[in-house]
Amino acid sequence: MIGCTASHYRQTGFDNFIQEFVELREHPDAKSFDRVSVRIKNLEVILVDHPDEIPYDHPGVVGLAVGLPRSYRIYILATKIGEKFYVNQAVLGHELLHVLHWRDKKIVDADQIDLELIRP
Ligand SMILES: [Zn+2]
Repeated sequence: MIGCTASHYRQTGFDNFIQEFVELREHPDAKSFDRVSVRIKNLEVILVDHPDEIPYDHPGVVGLAVGLPRSYRIYILATKIGEKFYVNQAVLGHELLHVLHWRDKKIVDADQIDLELIRP
């Protein structure tokens, strides 16, 4: 299975991330590399209905990644419409990037993306 994207709000949001990534790819110090693979065992993604269910005391929290001794958890605020759950894809990607960083420190931490690389 594969996933792809479309829709007005998603595309508008992605446009900003895409522009950021284009600028990173065009950075004068960017270099080619051999493929990198990260396998994540024991990753649990927990959809919650209310921010209070996310175990992080911070106003406005909508997602959280947690590294445990033998597993990882991603908590993410969701909503249910009909029988389907919806999550913020940008937040899910952000939290997943934390987990990837913990698995391979060469992958940038989601909170440590150096925007100075883009706008010195
Ligand atoms: Zn973060």
